[in-house]
Amino acid sequence: MTADHTEVLIAGAGPTGLLLAGDLASADVPVTVLERRDRESNLSRAFAVHARTLEQFDMRGLADELISTGHRLDRLGLFGRVTVDLSRLPSRFPFVLISPQYTTERLLERRARSLGARIIGGTEVTGLSQDAGGVQVQARGADGTASAFRASYVVGADGMRSAVRTALGLPFPGRSVMQSVMLADVRLAQPPPDILTVNATEAGFAFLAPFGDGWYRVIAWNRHHQLPDTEPADLDEIRQITRQALGSDFGMHDPRWMSRFHNDERQVPSYRSGRVFLAGDAAHVHSPAGGQGMNTGLQDAANLSWKLAAAAQGTADPGLLDTYHAERYPVGRFVLRMSHGLTQVALLKSGRLRDALALAGGAAAHIGPVTGRAARVISGIGIAYHAPPGAHHLAGRRAPDIPLAGSAHARLYEALRGGSFVLLTAAQPPSLLAMWPGRVRLEIPGPTPARMILVRPDGYVAWATDEPDPAARDAALRGALTRWCGAPAGQEAAYERS
Ligand SMILES: Cc1cc2nc3c(=O)[nH]c(=O)nc-3n(C[C@H](O)[C@H](O)[C@H](O)COP(=O)(O)OP(=O)(O)OC[C@H]3O[C@@H](n4cnc5c(N)ncnc54)[C@H](O)[C@@H]3O)c2cc1C
Repeated sequence: MTADHTEVLIAGAGPTGLLLAGDLASADVPVTVLERRDRESNLSRAFAVHARTLEQFDMRGLADELISTGHRLDRLGLFGRVTVDLSRLPSRFPFVLISPQYTTERLLERRARSLGARIIGGTEVTGLSQDAGGVQVQARGADGTASAFRASYVVGADGMRSAVRTALGLPFPGRSVMQSVMLADVRLAQPPPDILTVNATEAGFAFLAPFGDGWYRVIAWNRHHQLPDTEPADLDEIRQITRQALGSDFGMHDPRWMSRFHNDERQVPSYRSGRVFLAGDAAHVHSPAGGQGMNTGLQDAANLSWKLAAAAQGTADPGLLDTYHAERYPVGRFVLRMSHGLTQVALLKSGRLRDALALAGGAAAHIGPVTGRAARVISGIGIAYHAPPGAHHLAGRRAPDIPLAGSAHARLYEALRGGSFVLLTAAQPPSLLAMWPGRVRLEIPGPTPARMILVRPDGYVAWATDEPDPAARDAALRGALTRWCGAPAGQEAAYERS
């Protein structure tokens, strides 16, 4: 069978695969997405889009459109007594956006297709093998027809039961933490105040969030009545648990869909195996507490896409692709711990202990004091990557969306829409930048600090310096550009396409 050739093949057109596909297509990297479904998903699983995800969307010119379709909440209510205030987040988006997952997917799919990504529905990845030059992928159509693809790189964004992960022979260690969680989208006759709220009792817990269009998401768990996922959810039971946990069922009626699910906490030990990468639910799954799953998958995609694009274009430093696992695995681990902590509070039988923990700070030991820190953690704004010893204190941290001076772009995140690095400096433009044509964009920071900062395409600081001496500063900049943006133009052949 002749294999269809593409540069990057992505298994799975969920939010993770679609963001990645759009980014690669926008960098002119040929990309093909194979999706098992043959029609659009109408599952509104994830409904919370956090601030850092909205910032990533902003760096792609998508945030305002998504926000116009959703509902903003600037507070999260945890376990009756604790409120996490998002309104003071240092971001253009000091809120959580409530929007069904399919809206996010639609937007990402439209962008990916319009930029030239090829998305093939009704085609399931069934296996793969790799050699020094690329990856051979086996697939099967809805009618059972087998097909084959060859790609330089493959990304498994094919969800929790990832066929790519299985084909790599990687384990997915962890455990099931909660069975028989009921979920429904309902109308309410007497809506509560506009806040995302959760509370627990000895009998279970209930969670309620407004979509802003009259529909509400309710999640309820009954400790004393556990059924398999295949059993239909029961609105009366959801009402009863909600009354116990939140004091009222708010006149819940007319569910547009109901479902029952179980919760696993798992993480693959390696996000990379040669030319194959895992991202999103294929790499990590956790409880929906804190609304982190889709957000973390989208951040995986934002971290990987520019690195893969550079590798596909032959400009990536040999170590660059390894930074994907090095940076994203610890974040996945952290998110697992945080959502585990929140879930454990919800599962506590003792109301006194739950209140004590909630009062002491949400999932106290796990997420720290419920102050600005909890808001930064839950929103993703506080996520930073490890920087090597001796690096500037800003290295690895999120670059805030500062205003720019004398540019076509008013602010940093607009300048990042081109997909290249941004060098922020008010000093004389270093002439050595000409050696990285098209890879680094020069911008003058509005606040004009003396500092020089190299910002990665995903909005994190690659390198920074306060060095006042131009010669020493340019020598350090040359090293940083070579590490992060690859060899200077004309010398890329020195790199093997690893
Ligand atoms: C009840 C519930 C509530 C949630 N709430 C939130 C929330 O508020 N916020 C949040 O961030 N997250 C939430 N999540 C988690 C979120 O839904 C997932 O983390 C998110 O969907 C992961 O995206 P993904 O693209 O990695 O994987 P998926 O969305 O699972 O997409 C994988 C895609 O791959 C396709 N596929 C599977 N196998 C193959 C194959 N072999 N070949 C080709 N295609 C394949 C699938 O059809 C699917 O389209 C929630 C989850 C649940 C269950």
